[in-house]
Amino acid sequence: MNKLGIVPEPPATPQGGGARPPSDPVALVGACFVIGAACRAQLPPPGPPEIAFAGRSNAGKSSAINALANRTRLAFASRTPGRTQQINLFQLKSGGMVADLPGYGYAAVARDVKREWQDFLWEYLTTRDTLVGLVLVADARHGLKPLDFTVLDAFVPSARPVLVLATKSDKLNQSDQRRAVSNIREQLAERYPAQATGIEVVGFSATRRLGLLAADRVLCGWLGIGEGR
Ligand code: GDP
Repeated sequence: MNKLGIVPEPPATPQGGGARPPSDPVALVGACFVIGAACRAQLPPPGPPEIAFAGRSNAGKSSAINALANRTRLAFASRTPGRTQQINLFQLKSGGMVADLPGYGYAAVARDVKREWQDFLWEYLTTRDTLVGLVLVADARHGLKPLDFTVLDAFVPSARPVLVLATKSDKLNQSDQRRAVSNIREQLAERYPAQATGIEVVGFSATRRLGLLAADRVLCGWLGIGEGR
């Protein structure tokens, strides 16, 4: 691992001698859409372990989910960003679930809609017992913004793990990629001095498949995929 602590790619040969090509993710592959929930009552009853993806509109969340699922249009951004106020749930082959939370921070959304969405998001993040981890997607060039911290503030105190994907890293050269990841680490250390070590930050690019396997390995760990196989 280099001194900035970027999560390294896994070794070329997967442990356990499995047949999976080392360049393919597994955790989200084969995911199927289940339901879009616009309020708590529409959420499926808590059951299998769930992973949530959150991020500002346009941060690259849909692209990240699609890359991790090896699909082109499993998750897709709304044509009117910020309008889709629902949590989209996907069933995973492992039995787990993925919750794609609506993008936030879109300036043109009315204030009362924003309030409503923030309340639903807050409630989901603080009360969903089966949520085993949160993936926060943030543009590597911009770092974490106040609304990202609003989301993290709801979740980090629970001591459950967080993975920050610093997306669109392909738009930066290698040293700026490292700097972007380390800046995000510093932001997290400042805000959450007690919990920051439990938050992973991975430089990511959906287009170049950068950080894909590192992210996948974290998700597999949360979902218990690969254990005992
Ligand atoms: P979302 O609103 O967070 O779901 O963002 P999208 O995944 O829809 O991406 C927003 C825009 O960023 C789209 O034009 C994507 O093509 C682009 N984008 C997403 N991920 C990447 C990436 O890794 N690299 C580059 N260069 N562009 C990306």
